[in-house]
Amino acid sequence: MTAQMLDGRALAGRIEASLRGEVDTFAGMFRRKPRLVVVLVGDVAASASYVKSKAAAAARLGMDSAVIPVAATATTADLVALVGSIARDEHGHADGILVQLPLPPHVDQVAVLDAVPPDRDVDGFHPENAGLLSQGRPRFIPCTAAGVQRMLIDAAIPTAGRHVVIVGRSDIVGKPLALLLAQRPPPGCPADGAGGCDATVTICHSRSGDLGRFTREADILVAAVGKPGLITAPMVRPGAAVIDVGINRVDGRLVGDVDAGPVAEVAGWLSPVPGGVGPMTVAMLMANTLLAAELRLGRG
Ligand code: NDP
Repeated sequence: MTAQMLDGRALAGRIEASLRGEVDTFAGMFRRKPRLVVVLVGDVAASASYVKSKAAAAARLGMDSAVIPVAATATTADLVALVGSIARDEHGHADGILVQLPLPPHVDQVAVLDAVPPDRDVDGFHPENAGLLSQGRPRFIPCTAAGVQRMLIDAAIPTAGRHVVIVGRSDIVGKPLALLLAQRPPPGCPADGAGGCDATVTICHSRSGDLGRFTREADILVAAVGKPGLITAPMVRPGAAVIDVGINRVDGRLVGDVDAGPVAEVAGWLSPVPGGVGPMTVAMLMANTLLAAELRLGRG
């Protein structure tokens, strides 16, 4: 079997095309564009590159964005104060506020993320948004989780009654994705649904022991760990959909967590790295930013 590639770049392009029309409508109605403000702390090359691609996507869609660079020596109090000032629109109007992770180790990341007002929290990391997601009434869904769900829906990969195994239990990827795929269909969704929900989900982590024991049971296997080559072909059930969230730099190349060549011979679908989940994450951030602007001006 040779897996069908899940082209996240192409899908993200289609999502952007439809968002562009909605951004135009918003701008025509409110005489201003949705605006994203990003806080970039320190001098980490990967973070700077992610922020650049987010700003470029905003520009392609006709949205405004601003990046506020901060020295790596900034304290937790400095960053909480900065986020507060952004929320008071002291750096121009801020519909969406995003603090690029990771923060330096001396900073209390939770305190800084909690300072982002939940109605501007386009990353979906605030406890209020996490709580809404866990109750099945999401507002801002963490972008990577939303992107993976959208890929599955777009490829018509069924989730209802299927077994999803997610390797990785972080608050930003594994946990929200598990909640999303296990949720009941959203209100108004027909019984056979648009997909992306009603799955049975297993979450694995560093203490799960023999990972293959779980991953071989997966109809849909998601790797969100940050370890190149962690998922090998014998760990994949033939015909399964394999979603590779991992981003690792090996000898200057970007690779995921999946041993892509051999796994592509076994899996039914595979998301590549690069060009899979990464562009989807950015597209979902743009959707959340537009939603934040609409909610703020009463159209959400
Ligand atoms: P975290 O480091 O926060 O979480 C990693 C998870 O992997 C943890 O739950 C950890 O377990 C688990 N883990 C570590 N080693 C193993 C192992 N040997 N077997 C099983 N589980 C293991 O990472 P993130 O969730 O933030 O990111 C995961 C990956 O996804 C990274 O490569 C990151 O760069 C990438 N990423 C990609 C995005 C995209 O847009 N494509 C967006 C966000 C992240 P434990 O909890 O026990 O420590």
